[in-house]
Amino acid sequence: MLADPAAAQAAARWRERDLAVLWHPCTQMREHPGVMPLVPVERGEGAWLVGRDGRRYLDGISSWWTNLHGHAEPRIAAAIARQAGTLEQVILAGFSHAPAVELAERLLAIAPRQAGRAPLAKVFYADNGSAGVEVALKMAFHWFRNRGEHTRTKFVALENGYHGETLGALAVGDIPLYRRIYAPLLAEALFAPSPDAYLARPGESAAQCAARAADALADLFDRHPGEVCAVIVEPRLQCAGGMRMHDPAYLRRVRELCDANGAFLVADEIATGFGRTGTMFACEQAGISPDLLCLSKGLTGGFLPLAAVLATQAVYDGFLDDSRERAFLHSHSYTGNPLACAAALASLDIFETDGVLDRNRGTAARMTALAAPLAAHPHVAEVRQAGMVVAFELARGGNRDTPFDPGLRVGLRAYRAALERGVLLRPLGDVLYWMPPYCVDEAQLQLLAAATAAAIEEATACA
Ligand SMILES: *Cc1c(COP(=O)(O)O)cnc(C)c1O
Repeated sequence: MLADPAAAQAAARWRERDLAVLWHPCTQMREHPGVMPLVPVERGEGAWLVGRDGRRYLDGISSWWTNLHGHAEPRIAAAIARQAGTLEQVILAGFSHAPAVELAERLLAIAPRQAGRAPLAKVFYADNGSAGVEVALKMAFHWFRNRGEHTRTKFVALENGYHGETLGALAVGDIPLYRRIYAPLLAEALFAPSPDAYLARPGESAAQCAARAADALADLFDRHPGEVCAVIVEPRLQCAGGMRMHDPAYLRRVRELCDANGAFLVADEIATGFGRTGTMFACEQAGISPDLLCLSKGLTGGFLPLAAVLATQAVYDGFLDDSRERAFLHSHSYTGNPLACAAALASLDIFETDGVLDRNRGTAARMTALAAPLAAHPHVAEVRQAGMVVAFELARGGNRDTPFDPGLRVGLRAYRAALERGVLLRPLGDVLYWMPPYCVDEAQLQLLAAATAAAIEEATACA
């Protein structure tokens, strides 16, 4: 599609103004705009982003996994506007407001439940995913301090996991690109092998691979008796680690091992929550509930930053004391912001009124069908899916033992190729993935599939 010249000029002006003043996230700024295009966006419309130059881009990754029901969804926009005209913000220490209370009630009502286990019972708000992870880690650590168990100071995290960019969250993350440079600043964590089915040994099933990882976690507990305060996992899907998926049976073993060793289980569903993997929460697929559950990203339907940490009554009770120091004194200026809570409530309403999880089953089936032919490409090593997420793992000759030379930047080539075709894909290394807004329609899915096929072809032709 040719942009009209006036619009193209307007886009160029915004690009210039941007680069004069902005420092972008997750970006080597030197690559802007030569190597890495910079796309000024004017507005969003369902699954579309509309550029300043008039071009439309299908948001194949829900703008970093945040958007659920489409951009500028009118019901969420209206809820925010209503709330802004009533109460935009209030201190949440000593004061309360209806959106914070109602949202907590509704989150607890839909949270994963496990038979015979005390449910999640309390909600603590934070401002973004990383802050939510910090809250969960601090709660787990502090709980044991309050009990006088001073040896329980360690967190167990999974290899290839990701929990955010703040120093506490990075300490339990295992993606070298984000972590390595800050390693000297990070608290020491124990890392257990990932149950990632892509790493299954020859002849090993996903279930066997998960069982092997669980055995390794058991060994880790044995080597550190009484030292672990919490295990943190991304249930079902390690997202930033390349959309790697595992057998839910692994999560049942982790739940048992945490119980047997007296450690908390922290489920980081910041990316997987709110229907991404097919069920409202990924934990449901294993039939487990954690002691602490971190939610963010899709929580507000992708409109405003907000995180919620759900805790069991037992976690909460561990802070009730005469001493202020035993209280959880963590706070953020905008804790429980009413606008963000109102957006989250409107998003939960949409799940109900539009029957979103049911509708997604049909959409996910279409994604399966459209993705299947791409598995035949000679440089596709695997196509995998968990609900509304489909990932394409690229490797030379389709062989997982021969990844592409990172210097080739196959992912970046695919990014540019898809963008030229009006689709926003943002590969993780050499993993392309689909994580569209749930309102994506058949024509958009077909565009997504066609652009992905072309991007794979173009990106791997150089190799
Ligand atoms: C994105 C993400 C985070 C961090 O959330 P931010 O809002 O980006 O700080 C934490 N955990 C997981 C699993 C994530 O995908």
